[in-house]
Amino acid sequence: MTYLTVHTPGPGLRLHLNENTAGCSPSVLAALRALDATDTAFYPDYDAVTTAAERWFDVGPGWVQLTNGLDEGLHVVALAAARGRLDASALIVEPAFEMYASCADAAGLRAIHLAPRDDFAFPLADILAADQSVRLINLTDPNNPTGLAIPDGVIEEIAVSRRHAFVLVDEAYGEFSKRTLIGAALNRHRNLIVGRTFAKAHGLAALRVGALVAHPDTLAGIRRLLPPYSLNICAVRALLAALEDRDYLERSVAESEQSRELIYAFCRSRQIPFWRSQGNFVLMRVGSDAREIVSAVAAQGAFVRDKSLSPGCAGCIRITAGVVDHTRQCLAILESVLATRAR
Ligand SMILES: *Cc1c(COP(=O)(O)O)cnc(C)c1O
Repeated sequence: MTYLTVHTPGPGLRLHLNENTAGCSPSVLAALRALDATDTAFYPDYDAVTTAAERWFDVGPGWVQLTNGLDEGLHVVALAAARGRLDASALIVEPAFEMYASCADAAGLRAIHLAPRDDFAFPLADILAADQSVRLINLTDPNNPTGLAIPDGVIEEIAVSRRHAFVLVDEAYGEFSKRTLIGAALNRHRNLIVGRTFAKAHGLAALRVGALVAHPDTLAGIRRLLPPYSLNICAVRALLAALEDRDYLERSVAESEQSRELIYAFCRSRQIPFWRSQGNFVLMRVGSDAREIVSAVAAQGAFVRDKSLSPGCAGCIRITAGVVDHTRQCLAILESVLATRAR
């Protein structure tokens, strides 16, 4: 099985992977520089960082399992869903983050892909109608690549009607949407698991640190499937420092909001259809030559993501909305590319 990796064609403005192009907080770098020889020689201790993460998510002891990026969390939940079962399946609501299909494949789960509805309306009826082999339902709030939120109340309805399946709600962009299911819902529904990452808003993608948040009884069964030391010491110290610097996070989130507004204004003035996004990216429909546009923009030093082959996304590209200056540079390049193509 192969995990998808996105080819980055050399140096340039990286607006194709929803990273924080400003980087991490300076206090994270200071923490990394402060590592000493025994820090690297001894197996890491996770108590302090797990407690810090529990406090961050405002949950009690036992409610958080840190993972080597959220990708590892997605992977281990798929393993847990498949465990001891023949003919189990995972439900994937398209267009979806590509890792869900990779993880289902790795775990031996059959992937059931639900086709997008018009304008990406949330397909609640299709989810509720899926067959009884479903042991994992992958949801993303807000979704990547559309940036759309799942309507309120719907996830709990799914959790109730599918008690024997894990409902994994990927909140990779929760800092930007300022919405979360973490709280009483996780206590009411023991099959509900929330996935978070510190890769995007906190700028720790290369250090690999994510989290699963769920009722302690639910997490206990999942924890057994993880290796004991999947976070390395750099990730541990980085996360401790990042969680201390809330100002940095808030500034990143505020810049993203500003960048999204710039992208919307750009699209409106050129009559390019787009979806208002709750994540740090915007999906827009540039037309049938999306792929060529992405290449032409890359030739001028900015990488954006061709999404035209994703279900429901014909003609679409996705642009990260983070640092305002980077957004402006990218839109200027896109502008010049669109101008030459219009002639
Ligand atoms: C980026 C992303 C992730 C992966 O997060 P990592 O912590 O880098 O593994 C998971 N889910 C979604 C929807 C993402 O966009």
